[in-house]
Amino acid sequence: MAIAIGRVAVIMPTYNERGNIETMLGRVRAAVPDANILVVDDNSPDGTGGIADETICLNDCYGNLKPSSYFHASVGNVKQVPFRELWFNSKVFNDLRDFPKYQGKCGECEFLNVCGGCRARAYAVSGDYLAAEPFCTYEPVKARK
Ligand code: SF4
Repeated sequence: MAIAIGRVAVIMPTYNERGNIETMLGRVRAAVPDANILVVDDNSPDGTGGIADETICLNDCYGNLKPSSYFHASVGNVKQVPFRELWFNSKVFNDLRDFPKYQGKCGECEFLNVCGGCRARAYAVSGDYLAAEPFCTYEPVKARK
């Protein structure tokens, strides 16, 4: 039986997968480019949800779509707006994928593309999800005097 591409859903349960999640997502995307990938993160304390801010998202049991489980604002509800519309056209998701918009030391950090900081934490502390990660103690090379 042929698999109808675009109708394939890949469900990835995760817990403390910060170091692996991007690699695994890349492999799944390479193997099944049009699959819908659902990552179910069980509130990992290692910040797996932070990686979700840039590459994946959370769809809660009410249909609210968020960058991660820690992000307290929803970008929309998939019961009212198609997932693809929210994923590709919402300001929040597009901002989070646009690294030059990142502010403070995250914006000048050489590790931005592999870390990005916790956007939910930045949002909670400063009101700006593109602000510097408030708990990070790393000093980016460009910021050192
Ligand atoms: S400043 Fe810290 S949190 Fe921000 S991208 Fe760099 S290492 Fe990550």
